[in-house]
Amino acid sequence: MLDELARIGRDPATNGYVRDAWSAADLELREWFRGEAGRRGLDVREDRNGNLWAWWGDPSRRPGVVTGSHLDSVRQGGAFDGPLGVVSAFAALDVLKNRNFMPGRPLGIACFSDEEGARFGVPCMGSRLLTGVLDPERALGLTDDEGDTLAEVMARAGREPRAVGRDDETLAMVGTFVELHVEQGRGLVELGSPVGVASAIWPHGRWRFDFLGEANHAGTTRLVDRDDPMLPFARMVLAARETAAAHGVVATVGKVRVSPNNANAVPGSVSAWLDVRGAREQDVRAVVGALAQGVAVSEESWTPVVDFDAALRDRVAKVAGDAPVLPTGAGHDAGILASAGVPSAMVFVRNPTGVSHSPQEHAEPGDCEAGVVALANVLEDLCH
Ligand SMILES: [Zn+2]
Repeated sequence: MLDELARIGRDPATNGYVRDAWSAADLELREWFRGEAGRRGLDVREDRNGNLWAWWGDPSRRPGVVTGSHLDSVRQGGAFDGPLGVVSAFAALDVLKNRNFMPGRPLGIACFSDEEGARFGVPCMGSRLLTGVLDPERALGLTDDEGDTLAEVMARAGREPRAVGRDDETLAMVGTFVELHVEQGRGLVELGSPVGVASAIWPHGRWRFDFLGEANHAGTTRLVDRDDPMLPFARMVLAARETAAAHGVVATVGKVRVSPNNANAVPGSVSAWLDVRGAREQDVRAVVGALAQGVAVSEESWTPVVDFDAALRDRVAKVAGDAPVLPTGAGHDAGILASAGVPSAMVFVRNPTGVSHSPQEHAEPGDCEAGVVALANVLEDLCH
């Protein structure tokens, strides 16, 4: 299955993946999901927010156990972040069928829409809309690099933008959620284990900084006459690094929009996205507060600390072969569902380099198989 997905959305120049939500690649990935589900006789539904659900059994009578992840990617991302969870879900279901296991509860496979937020800047869009933590009006008005709104993009993909928003009917079908994901760090390498279980997700957020100045000619505008927004932007980037180090958190400026973005013009405006994460909310907030002096800042997303359901976490770790338990700095749909009150857990698969959100992201086939077996055992246990 990973081989089949390997060609979709790959940039041949870099071997990185570009799978923006609702792009041609994303639509192809959604078709692939429907095909895999159909081949297994699962009942596929797309909810009002673009999330896909493939069911073995009828979840309208009794909430099910759901596994899965997402198929979109960051720009120039790797092959495993997201797809490994979806592929492993189908593979775990195959393992259960080979065992002649008949689930006592409905078993679902989810593919969440726009987990990475690569196109509109807000991560976990599908699960945030589903659970109602993201205001539909705000979401629909978000724009991509072309200036197209989410509403326009969804309508073009044949979806009904006015239908997005909290969806209690779909949520009620999810009794428990278990997301398998490639680890985005070297915790499991250090622990010497192919598989681990998440304890918590660090609090994290994204903020947009808008530096405004005056666009002008790069040759004829004297330095003293310039109002160049690139300078306060540059100071903010350097300060982010220093302030983060001082507070023991991580801060990243990974996306910048410069207008008019001409090599021979003083920019008129610079917008930059700051991502800050850490073990403690007050440290994350302190960094943003220190950087937000004298500039327009808007909080595009905020996710408080997620402590996964302790009983479920311990049960999953035990069934997954006494897997080690470790925290993560990466956000996931499982965290959004957990915050909305759905008992949720995460299974991590070892990543030999720890590199993620990059074409270098990797997981060894043997570790992926260990992940599938662990997931199958967890689903079997939870579906009894
Ligand atoms: Zn992911």
